[in-house]
Amino acid sequence: MTESKAGQLKGVQTRMKVLVINAGSSSLKYQLIDMRDESVIAKGVCERIGNGGKITHKLADGRKYEEEVDFPTHTEAFEKLVEVMSTGDYAAVSGMDEISAIGHRIVQGAEYFTESVLVTEEVLKTIESIAELAPLHNPAHIRAIRACQKVFGPDVPEVVVFDTAFHQTMPPKAYMFGLPYEYYEKYNVRKYGFHGTSHRFVSARLGELVGRNIKDMKIVTCHLGNGSSICAVNRGHSVDTSMGFTPLDGLMMGTRSGSVDPSAILYIMEKEGLSPKEMSDILNKKSGNLGISRISSDDRDLRKAAAEGNPMANLAGEMFRYQIKRYIGAYAAAMGGLDALVFTGGIGENSYSLREEVCDHMEFLGIEFDKEKNDGVKGKELEISKPTSKVKVWIIPTNEELLIARDTMAIYKRIQ
Ligand code: ADP
Repeated sequence: MTESKAGQLKGVQTRMKVLVINAGSSSLKYQLIDMRDESVIAKGVCERIGNGGKITHKLADGRKYEEEVDFPTHTEAFEKLVEVMSTGDYAAVSGMDEISAIGHRIVQGAEYFTESVLVTEEVLKTIESIAELAPLHNPAHIRAIRACQKVFGPDVPEVVVFDTAFHQTMPPKAYMFGLPYEYYEKYNVRKYGFHGTSHRFVSARLGELVGRNIKDMKIVTCHLGNGSSICAVNRGHSVDTSMGFTPLDGLMMGTRSGSVDPSAILYIMEKEGLSPKEMSDILNKKSGNLGISRISSDDRDLRKAAAEGNPMANLAGEMFRYQIKRYIGAYAAAMGGLDALVFTGGIGENSYSLREEVCDHMEFLGIEFDKEKNDGVKGKELEISKPTSKVKVWIIPTNEELLIARDTMAIYKRIQ
């Protein structure tokens, strides 16, 4: 073999790493994943972009590096990430040329994106054009991608993976609101759904775990965390989900209200003289667990307070669990049956009490819950229904970054 051929082969072998980026307006989370075994080599976060700055970088062996740095924009954060990742004592690669491609998480892809795509100028313009549908997220994603392109150059392909893409299979009867049709035509007002990467990941993983093709299954996936959503996955496709036009709809969450009668919102705005922006802040940041309990948005705090006799903390927990049950029943009816129920997200993976309470009295639906198996289990893949249960119940820790890396690698291979 000639030396250059051997060099090329080595290049292909070592260029099996994908950098996954989840950027917000003031932060940039990253993971470097080796696609040969799908292991995480390094991960970290650049925080306080535009207002100071700090990088926290962790290696697979547990070593951690922290530095306060000035990040006026995302560009300086990416420059620091490259420096820490490839030089000095905390380097995870010998050079950034080991990275084959970069995958970016994008919150809103609207009706334009039904799957992950390679970043082109046209793709960026389209994401920019729907910024109004996700004003807090899409502009920040665009800033991050442009900064990333500047730092990594044109030779590293970049891919965008959308939270909404998995839900683009919903039929109009599920995604339309009962509003005058002109608002859909003029402003694209409809249900988009979010957490799609997570619902897609856990439903696919369920198929692997139970050894069945999910194209033959009816699954309800419950992503329960600070933000929560439930999805009806019929034959491998999302056919309905609880989040809507924005991630505010559906279940009550940490600080978000979830679904509320629109008249109640208009009534409160009128009574309190609130502007749309002020009402939006209340619905997004002061409602949900926090708004009801008045003590915390965190499920763990509420559980502790409820156990100590706080009635409002107890009520918040009861409301959340009741709403989850309601969605499971509704989606089983929508799909005409149920084969499996999956719990994921910070609460779904860790709160064994919540899983037990949600699955209580669900025998009528074919759920035979195994309390003993479920008890005390946190963050691991496990079947928690009895062997005789018609509906299989599983805990499946989500891994959105891995799915972003897989999509990115698949597109990278296609264009080589
Ligand atoms: P996000 O939606 O921000 O991704 P996560 O999925 O990380 O959130 O979930 C965070 C939530 O998970 C926390 O607010 C907390 O309520 C819940 N959580 C984390 N660990 C536990 C636990 N051991 N028991 C119960 N709830 C937990």
